[in-house]
Amino acid sequence: MSDRRGEHPGIGRIDTSRPHPARRYNYWLGGKDNFAADRESGDAIAAAMPTIRIATLENRRFLQRAVRHLTRAGIHQFLDIGTGLPTADNTHEVAQAIEPAARVVYADNDPLVLAHARALLTSSPQGATAYLDADLRQPARILTDPVLRDTLDLDEPVALMLVAILHFIRDDEDPRRIIEELVDALAPGSCLVASHATWDHLSADVIAGLQPNNADQRFRPRSRSEFAALLDGFALLEPGIVSVARWRPDAPPETRPSDADVSCYGAVARVR
Ligand code: SAH
Repeated sequence: MSDRRGEHPGIGRIDTSRPHPARRYNYWLGGKDNFAADRESGDAIAAAMPTIRIATLENRRFLQRAVRHLTRAGIHQFLDIGTGLPTADNTHEVAQAIEPAARVVYADNDPLVLAHARALLTSSPQGATAYLDADLRQPARILTDPVLRDTLDLDEPVALMLVAILHFIRDDEDPRRIIEELVDALAPGSCLVASHATWDHLSADVIAGLQPNNADQRFRPRSRSEFAALLDGFALLEPGIVSVARWRPDAPPETRPSDADVSCYGAVARVR
C-alpha cells in the first residue's frame, strides 16, 4: 500500500477535532470535504445567520465574475491566497476558459486544502498552476517562494486575490501592512480582488447569536469604513465597495439577495 503521507506532506498535520474555515466553507457550499467539528460549527453559525449558504455562494460568484473581468482586461496571472477547498469553477478554470495560457499560484495554510489542491487544481496544457503551503501573515515568504517565482513573472501584471480571507486576519496582525507588502512586489497594471465579511447590516440579535461562535477571536468582520481603510489609496474599479452580490452582477435585480443576507463586501482595485 502506498504511503499517502509521503505523497502529501501536509496530510499528517490534519486536525479533524477542531473546525477549520476552509472545511466549514466547503460544508456551506454543499461539499464533502468536511468533518463533524466543521459541520457542528457550520450549523451553529447557520442557526444564528440562516442565509450563510447564500452568502458563501454569492462570494464564490463574485470571485468568478472578478476573475472573468480581469482576464478579459488582459491580466493573465493570479496569486490566489486563501484558496479554499477545490470546488466548481476555481480561479484557474475561470481564467483559462478565457485565456488558456493563464498562470495561477494558489496559497493556503490548511493542510487539507493543500492535499486536495495538489490533486485537483491542475492546469490547462498551455497555462500553469502551482500551490504553496503558506500563510498570508507571512507575505515575504510567499513572495520569495521559488515555486511562485517559477510560475509567475512579477514583471508582468498579477491579480492578487484575497477573497474571504482578510476577515481571518486580526487587527494586531496588521492586514493593511500585509496587503502593502504584497502589492509592493507587483508590476504596474496589477489588481487586487478582495471580499470581506461584515456585520454592518445585521441586527443586534443576529450579532449576539454569532458572537459565541468566535471563541478563538479568529474571525474579525469589518465595517465598510474599516474595509475601505484596508484598500486606501488604491483605484477602485466601478462600482467600488458593494455587497459581493452587487459587484457587476449578471443576475437580474429581483433575484439578488439583500445586503444583510450576504453580509460580505467585495471590491476590485487597480493597486499599481
Ligand atoms: N477564497 C476562497 C475560499 C475562502 S475560505 C473563496 O472565496 O471561495 C477562506 C480560506 O482562507 C480557507 O481555505 C482558509 O484555510 C484560508 N485561510 C485562512 N486564514 C489563512 C491564512 N492566515 N493564510 C492562508 N490561508 C488562510
